Parts: sequence; structure tokens; C-alpha cells
Amino acid sequence: MRKPIIAGNWKMNKTLGEALSFVEEVAGKIPATEKVDAAVCASPLFLASMVEATKGSDLKIGAQNASDKDSGAFTGEVSPVALKDLGVTYVILGHSERREYYGETDEFINNKTKKMFEQGLTPILCCGETLEEREGGKFEEVIRTQLTADLAGLTEEQVKNLVIAYEPIWAIGTGVSATEQDAQDSCKFVREVVADLYNQAAADAVRIQYGGSVKPDNIKEYMAQPDIDGALVGGASLEPSSFLALLEGV
Ligand code: 13P
Repeated sequence: MRKPIIAGNWKMNKTLGEALSFVEEVAGKIPATEKVDAAVCASPLFLASMVEATKGSDLKIGAQNASDKDSGAFTGEVSPVALKDLGVTYVILGHSERREYYGETDEFINNKTKKMFEQGLTPILCCGETLEEREGGKFEEVIRTQLTADLAGLTEEQVKNLVIAYEPIWAIGTGVSATEQDAQDSCKFVREVVADLYNQAAADAVRIQYGGSVKPDNIKEYMAQPDIDGALVGGASLEPSSFLALLEGV
């Protein structure tokens, strides 16, 4: 049985004070932890304080990116060794915003994914297609190409412990969410690609989130789908009440 995971992706939002008041309000209220994993992925500026403030709680802390190197002369990069040392659990990799605005390639994302496992961090690996690609009938080709490159060289055991976030780019921050049937079909296809690249056991174990305009009022429909194991949520993860309502919807 796969345990669903709801992860907030705060992107470049909040100050330290706002981040801490969020976790102080939410950390003690995570519902039904046997049913759902809960995490928020924040700016590296806040991670140490957030980990400290959530010690002993069921709210886990994630980063939004990390380097493919341990340490060294890489100005501006965030070391996965330092993230692990802080007590960070998850790292979002290959978000479409990083692919689009910062030129991240599948090869780079693959190197990072391997590095996170080496350091004992759990990657939340993002994939997804543009509207043009979907309308042009290229969805399957785009997803298969991304996953084939992003997962290259990972062991079966690593894939079983991976979280994949399927996020159609046209649904991110637009309020236009995929229908639950489209999201299900897409996540099912992601699972089929994992089965092709590895085997059925890996495909059955890997957790696949849907992301893109997920809100408290549509989370239940997504969670009712057999191949959707949670959500990666931007806007609706920023307020404590909304984040807690997402968890209640699992
Ligand atoms: P929204 O939930 O704001 O659409 O963002 C989705 C996303 O990009 C999560 O990584």
C-alpha cells in the first residue's frame, strides 16, 4: 500500500517570521499521520529554523532545489550534505519553473536525483508537459523522454523510495486544474513508464503526486484516483488553514 504524501511547495514566498508562524500553527495539528505524509518545501533561508520548530512533529521539511555536488566552489548553490545535516527530509527536483527559467536539463536533474539518494534525502522529482505539447499529442513522448533521462542509473530500490510529481505546466498557478480523469490517466502513464524502465514492483511502490491548482475543494477527487498518491501544492499550501484542509481531504 502506498502512503499518500501532501507536500507544499512555497516557491519564493514568505519571510522567516511568516514561515515560522505557519509551522508553529500547523506542526501539532497534522491529522491521521498513519494515512498521509505531510511536508512543506521552503526557501533554504528558513530550513534550519523550520526543522528546529517542527522537531518531534509529523510535519516534515523539504527544500526546493539542491546541488548535484556535495560541496566546493559552486557559488550560490545549496549543498545536499548541508541539507541532510540540518534534518531536511525531501528535495524538490526538476520543477518546471527551474527547467524553464534556469535552464535545468534532464541530465542535470538526473545527477541531482542520484546525489540526493547518496545523501539520504528523498527527491520529489517533477515532470510534466506544456499545453502545446499536450494539444499536439506529444504528452506520452514528453513524459517518457523526461523520465527515461531523469531516472537513468537509479537502482530499483531508489525508484521505490522516490516521489514523482506529475505537474502539467498549463495547470500550475493558473487555476485551471486537470480533470481528475486526466490527472489519473497521466499518473497511470507515469507508472507505466516506471514499469517499462524498471519492473512492476518498482511501479507499484513509487509514489506519484498530481500537482497544478490543487485546492481544498478538489483534493478529494484527485485522492480518489487509484494512481494518484498525493499532491504537490503551490498556492493552496501557503495558509495554515488551507494546508490542513488539504491533509483532511486525503
Ligand atoms: P499551484 O498549486 O499554485 O498551481 O502550483 C503547483 C506547483 O507548481 C507545485 O509545485
